[in-house]
Parts: sequence; C-alpha cells; structure tokens
Amino acid sequence: MRRPVILIVEDEPGIADTLQYALRTEGFEPRWSASGEAALAAADDAALVILDVGLPDLNGFEVFKRLRARHETLPVLFLTARADEIDRVVGLELGADDYVTKPFSPRELVARVRSVLRRSAAPAGLSGAAPASFHCDDGKRSIHYYGQALDLSRYEYGLLKTLIGRPGFVFTRERLLALVWDDDTDSLDRTVDAHVKTLRAKLKAVAPMLEPIRTHRGVGYALAEDLPASRPQA
Ligand code: CA
Repeated sequence: MRRPVILIVEDEPGIADTLQYALRTEGFEPRWSASGEAALAAADDAALVILDVGLPDLNGFEVFKRLRARHETLPVLFLTARADEIDRVVGLELGADDYVTKPFSPRELVARVRSVLRRSAAPAGLSGAAPASFHCDDGKRSIHYYGQALDLSRYEYGLLKTLIGRPGFVFTRERLLALVWDDDTDSLDRTVDAHVKTLRAKLKAVAPMLEPIRTHRGVGYALAEDLPASRPQA
C-alpha cells in the first residue's frame, strides 16, 4: 500500500527534521516545505498538512485559506507557538482539523496525525459519530455508557454530548461555555471545570479504570479516542 504523504510546512529545519523522522518511522511519507508559497505548490498529493502558523512569507492562516480553497477536504493540523495563535485557531473556527502547541512531542504529534486521518476517512454522515462505548438518545436526552444509563444534569448532558460528537478534538472552556450554557445562566452554574468533575465521577462509577474525558492543560477537554469497545473488568 502507498504510504500517505504528509506535507510539513515549517520554516525551522530542526523541527521539520524531527517531524520527518517521526513520521517516516511510523509509516508515513513526509515532505517538507519551508515557506507558504512552496507549500501551496506541493500540497496536491498530500493526505494531510502539518502547518506552522509562523512562516516567513505568508502566515499559516493565509496558507490554510488558500489550501482549503483548492482542496476542500484536505485535513490540516496547525502547529502553534503562542496562546494568541491557539485562540485564533480554536476561537475563529477556521475549520482546522486539530492543532498542536510547540514544544510538542513527536510521538504525540504522530498520534494526532493518525487520529485526524482516521476521522477524515470516516464516511460522510458517520464522522463525529459517538464511539462504541457511548450511546446517545437525543429524543430522550439520555446517554448510555457501556450499556448503563447515566443520570446527568442538564449541563453534564450538554458537555458529554458535545465531547462525544467530536472524539479527540480539544474544546476550550470558552467554547464549551458557548456551546452548552445559555447566555443568561447564573454565573455560579457556568463553571465548566466543576461540571466536568461531577461528570467524571458518574463515568467512573460505571467504569472505574477508564478516564474518558482527558484534560489538555491550559487549553480544555477532549473525549478519549482509545476507549475499549466493551467495559474492562476491574
Ligand atoms: Ca515558524
């Protein structure tokens, strides 16, 4: 089988080298462009693009826009170095598939590449489907976890439903607030962390050995993508 081509757009040769090595070791075919213009010329047969935001010619956001104009479904994973860049990637919803902040571990990055490719390979209509461990019934506003109905408050339900809809995607607290809470909600109720905590306790009661909600320090929360299909025996 042909190895998937991963285009790395990064002006720092040290980072590009590390990435190329890690990707090659894991069965990918890395290519490297050191500028935005070079990347636009090289993206045609790429399966995924790893795109640094800070480039010498065009910035990463501009490159992203032009890439998407030509290749509508090409998955893009942003590399960001600063908090304000993360805010733009996440907050403005450019439609990037994921992002990794520098410094990053090559292993983590390759894992993200795999998961983005897996998501983008899912047939239309199935992408964003709940993982096998969860079953959502929207009509009843109920969620089953390994076959067991969860007794959830309104916001716990909203949080879990949102996370399940996009496994592996890191939602910021601000984004979760915007998606799950009403604008006029009492401010005491608007603590994402507190609701995640009670939600975790309820999930733990069903499967004590698993942690389905992962914390991404300084950023937010994501649903784990590696949950077993059946409940592990304690
Ligand atoms: Ca750079």
